[in-house]
Amino acid sequence: MDAPEITSTIVLPQLLLENHLKVLRLPTFAREYEKVAAECARESVDYPRYLLRLCELERIDRERRNMERRVRQARFPVIKSLESFDFSAIPALNKALVLELSRGEWIQKHENVITLGPSGVGKTHVALALGLAACQKGQSVSFTTAAGLVHELLEARDEKRLRALQKQLARVDLLIVDELGYVPFTAVGSELLFEVFSRRYEQGSTLITSNLPFDEWTQVFGSERLTGALLDRLTHHVHILEMNWKSYRLAESQKRKSTERKTQMGKDETSP
Ligand code: ADP
Ligand code: MG
Repeated sequence: MDAPEITSTIVLPQLLLENHLKVLRLPTFAREYEKVAAECARESVDYPRYLLRLCELERIDRERRNMERRVRQARFPVIKSLESFDFSAIPALNKALVLELSRGEWIQKHENVITLGPSGVGKTHVALALGLAACQKGQSVSFTTAAGLVHELLEARDEKRLRALQKQLARVDLLIVDELGYVPFTAVGSELLFEVFSRRYEQGSTLITSNLPFDEWTQVFGSERLTGALLDRLTHHVHILEMNWKSYRLAESQKRKSTERKTQMGKDETSP
């Protein structure tokens, strides 16, 4: 009959501690304290250093958890980084500027980036990489396509939650709008998108990628007046990344085809 009582007095402080750590949101402390205690005992490490080790582990883990949360919230369609970007494939792109932008200071200053170039040159890749870099620097990011964003805005308006969505879009440190130019918008769609960009003017950073030069943006927004006003705001504090070079996608597939052709020719030569 005495056994459970003995067990409970042994377990109780641990249970209490785990409960406190949970309430204080210190999951790494809870997970590691016994293991680190054993380590410290073995190495004759004193109490302050024991606590220091635990604090360091908690901070590293928390930073990783926060970063993962920011990446999830950004809703990147895929994860791409600048490490996997081959700058030599696109000499027209200002590499120094891209590297500078990856440090994230432009986002603190509420500046914008516009990436221009034809399809397949790596605009989305660079946008994703700058978005990921921003997440790593602790900034909140939201990734969307222009058509997707307009669709979301129209849906929110129909469901009477436009204000909430607009607020959410205004709050994020970096809003990435990919593929502006592929789909022209209706007048309402244009107005809604214009409002998003307007609200972010000097309040947050916006990164836009487009396959159209500025003088063709009117085709997308329908109205010259609105496009003019939009460009005024977007380009007031802007870094422009020109990517007018040959398509990486095309070059890769041509390279593949030529390798295939050579292999085929090799086979033909050796065939009887
Ligand atoms: P865009 O958005 O300009 O149409 P993407 O960024 O989608 O082009 O690029 C097409 C594909 O080619 C993607 O898989 C991208 O990762 C890859 N890509 C493009 N340019 C490069 C590059 N310079 N280095 C590495 N991968 C690249
Ligand atoms: Mg793209």
